[in-house]
Formats: sequence, C-alpha cells, structure tokens
Amino acid sequence: MPIQNIPEKNAILFVWFNHYAGILLKTPSKTLVIDPVDVKARQLQNSDAVLITHEHYDHLDQRLIAEIYKKTSCQIIADLASAKSLKNTIPPERIQNAYPGTEIKVGEVSIKPEKCQHPAQNPVTYLITSEDGVKIFHTADSQPYPEMVQIGEKEKIDLVFCTVGIAPKATPETGFEIARLTKPQVAVPYHTNNPAEQKRFAEILKTNMPRTGCLIPEQNKIYQVTKRR
Ligand SMILES: [Zn+2]
Repeated sequence: MPIQNIPEKNAILFVWFNHYAGILLKTPSKTLVIDPVDVKARQLQNSDAVLITHEHYDHLDQRLIAEIYKKTSCQIIADLASAKSLKNTIPPERIQNAYPGTEIKVGEVSIKPEKCQHPAQNPVTYLITSEDGVKIFHTADSQPYPEMVQIGEKEKIDLVFCTVGIAPKATPETGFEIARLTKPQVAVPYHTNNPAEQKRFAEILKTNMPRTGCLIPEQNKIYQVTKRR
C-alpha cells in the first residue's frame, strides 16, 4: 500500500487494509477504496473514488474521507445515510447516492450497489466490474440473502469478499453461505481479527466447494485476481 503496479490485462489488484471491510482495489485504469477506516489518507492519495457501504464506525470515517477528498478530489459514492452526513464536509455535488438498482460509473469501471442484509440505515453492497470485465462483489457486513443466487448467476463473479466475524451474526458459516450462493471463482474471508475464523471458512469452503479458490489475505499485502475463462 499504496499499489504502485498496474494489474495485468483481465486482472485486478487488491489490498485488505484493516480488520473490517477496508479494501483498496486497482483496475488497469482506476483505483477505488471501499470503507476506509484505520488507514492513512496519504496511503490512498491515488484514489479515483471512495465507496462507502454504511454509516457504522468501522466503515465510515468522515474526517478521513474529507482528508482523502482534499488530496484527490475523488468521486464519493455512498449509501444514503453516509452520503447525508458526508455533505457536511464534502461538496454535495461530488457525492453520489448508492441504492440498489442504480449503476454508477467511475470512468469505464461500473459500480452497481446491491442489497445488504445488515442492521444499518440504508446499507449497500457493491458489485464492481472492471473495464475488462473482472467482477468483484464487496458484500460489506452482509448476511447471506436469497437474491445473492441471482446476482451470482447473472454476473459470474470472480472475487467475493465474505464477512466471517465482528458484525452481528457473522460467522465463518454465514461467510461460507455467501460463497455458496454467489459461486465465485475466488472467495476471500474478511471482516475479522481472528485468523481462526478465516481458517474455519477455508475448511468449510474446501469441503463443500473444492473447486472454489480461497484467498486468506494478509493485511496490507497486494493480491492479483484474474478474470475466469
Ligand atoms: Zn463492519
């Protein structure tokens, strides 16, 4: 962090930078940061857009976003509750409201907010498609929900982030359930400070979906994921 390299064609790079849902994502043309907390603004100064999923303290840090914005003038995309409070510090015309069913573009990168099953005001998840078609599903703190099946069938997801701890009702089992419903090429257990939860997720995945890749990320390390053939 920050990511200096540019991903290969048909690939993306990502970094998990906190114990929660903090992800830095780099496509060949754009750098996106999702739910930045517990990170320095200077590590995110190449960001083209900040995406926020909901207003809880481990996802929304207003002061940090204002700092990132000051350095980058980046696009801000946020769920309604977060967008509303961000209007105190960011010019309102730079903030785009995220609600399921709308599509937001960051250059050639597509951002589709989807439903999020989590006790917050207007939480969203994000289905992100890079300019060369790599599909990433950032499920924030969501519990599994039935419509994830349709999202998986329609989008053919390459990479899904699955909450396995800290959030209400989140366990390695519910994280695995998200992978089971969305059928990605690679599943990443995150939102935990307990490596045992990630290991348990990996075991359940290996037993039940042996052909799905499990990537247990180390914090602040860069990973590349390539589009499935
Ligand atoms: Zn959280």
